[in-house]
Amino acid sequence: MECRTEGAPWASRKIPISPQGVYRKISHVSATIPKTMRAVVYRGVNDLRLEEVPVPRIKSSELLVRVGICGVCPTDIKKIHFGTQSPPRIYGHETAGTIVRVGSRVQGWTVGDRVGLHHHVPCLDCHFCRHQTFAQCETYKKTGITAGFEPAGGGYAEYVRVMDFCLPGVVKIPAKNTLEEGAMLEPVNTVLKGIRALSLLKGDTVWVAGAGPIGLLFIGMLSELGMRVVATDLMESRRQLARRWGAWKALDGADPNLVDSLRALTRSRGVDAAVVCVPVDAVVAQAQAALRGGGTTLLFAHTLRGKTAPVDLGTVCVDEKGLMGSYSSDFTLQKEVARWVFSRRLDVRNLITHRFPLAETAAAVALAARPSEDSLKILVEASSTQIAGGTSL
Ligand SMILES: [Zn+2]
Ligand SMILES: [Zn+2]
Repeated sequence: MECRTEGAPWASRKIPISPQGVYRKISHVSATIPKTMRAVVYRGVNDLRLEEVPVPRIKSSELLVRVGICGVCPTDIKKIHFGTQSPPRIYGHETAGTIVRVGSRVQGWTVGDRVGLHHHVPCLDCHFCRHQTFAQCETYKKTGITAGFEPAGGGYAEYVRVMDFCLPGVVKIPAKNTLEEGAMLEPVNTVLKGIRALSLLKGDTVWVAGAGPIGLLFIGMLSELGMRVVATDLMESRRQLARRWGAWKALDGADPNLVDSLRALTRSRGVDAAVVCVPVDAVVAQAQAALRGGGTTLLFAHTLRGKTAPVDLGTVCVDEKGLMGSYSSDFTLQKEVARWVFSRRLDVRNLITHRFPLAETAAAVALAARPSEDSLKILVEASSTQIAGGTSL
């Protein structure tokens, strides 16, 4: 077994052995699972191909999920456009679907359960996890959901295998909610994690740079939490959306006097935090200039290594302006995230503008990489027949 689970707090809970030492047999097999499936395979830089591949086989400690929906995420786009990982792989990690096979040693899940998945789950037991820096944990860095080849998420395929160490990241989708909402749990988690890192007080002013899908999630959650959000974007359509998502002000990101405007909105004090949701290096210096003393700039979109930008180090030392990053999700926030999404306190359905069939995943990725005026969150529909709730396959 390639997945280490010893020491994981849930290991004994999730894969229990009865007092007699016999595994409880709760395996269910659906008669409709084919031998092969369609999957979009990454074969090299900007080379995604629809191929027929074997349906993953699961071990007795794993789940097989028929993918319904998979969100297109900027981190996948980065890997596909820049070739940061070796091919072949099947990407897609914002995945929701229906359980079609339950390993005989897995408890708590049933064929037909509609679920949202997390492809990274920390061990909760190592040095990094004790410091709550889960994204740096070695177990977390392993990808535990796959549709074949080197595990890479697998959501751009019809079926995915959920490995044992990712079972704690499986979230049941309530009957009243959609698979789309299940697929949004992971991105919403990354946003809540970023907000938590900022130590804000109610009524604080936060600049959110970039009102794309992630920026809008920040705007929606921050304003719901009682912050005054100033959003910026280059597109007027997105500035309007930012207001609809709760932004107090929405300004043109290209305005040469932007920093002055931001400071004026806070009676010259400066904003309490700046969340940089665009991979634009010049915005980092603008953010540091717009902050109040002791405020924090959070980098959320600078996911490529090797990029540098000049920073006045005196702003960090003398003015105590923090410069930090946040990457990926926080497993311990999972329940809270599910409440935000499934109660529709944050109605993520409003974010979804495009759905592409699996065969057109390359077009979905291309649109997400170069968004149009009317595009926000883009989804790939893996199943040809969508199920609108319930537990049937
Ligand atoms: Zn993602
Ligand atoms: Zn760990």
